[in-house]
Amino acid sequence: MLSLKQFVSSEFCLNCRGCCIFKNDLWRPHLLDHEKQALAKNDVQTRKKGESLVCEFLIMEKHECRIYDKHPLECRLYPFLLVSTDNNACGLAAHLACPYVQNRLDSDEFNRYVAYLTNEWAKDAGVLKILKEQKRIFRSYPKEELKLLKEDIFKS
Ligand code: SF4
Repeated sequence: MLSLKQFVSSEFCLNCRGCCIFKNDLWRPHLLDHEKQALAKNDVQTRKKGESLVCEFLIMEKHECRIYDKHPLECRLYPFLLVSTDNNACGLAAHLACPYVQNRLDSDEFNRYVAYLTNEWAKDAGVLKILKEQKRIFRSYPKEELKLLKEDIFKS
């Protein structure tokens, strides 16, 4: 598993219960190659609940992840997203729908974490190799839902 410091506290996440339920298929997590192997799956499936899609690994009653010890990088990175930008670059963005992001956008804490992601985490040789080899993980999202933080995380 790629190491990654946590941004949102577990207490906040457990009280929010906004994650792991998606308004459409775009937002479900996608798997890196080593995650496919670890989970013996090609994709994370969802099931319909009302108008939403629920991750197959979500235990609804407790709002817990059934595979927490090996949940995908995209889940651990959230509310930050690996995005394909207009220029087809590999960017980093924050999802503005997350209440934690809404409360802390542009705070020192937020900016410190973005600096950590872009200057340390994304520059780690192991992380860099995986992200460069599997650029499909960078996807296009509706621009109005994002704050683009870095146009190209592979550039210094
Ligand atoms: S894999 Fe776990 S953390 Fe990721 S969306 Fe599903 S339930 Fe949530």
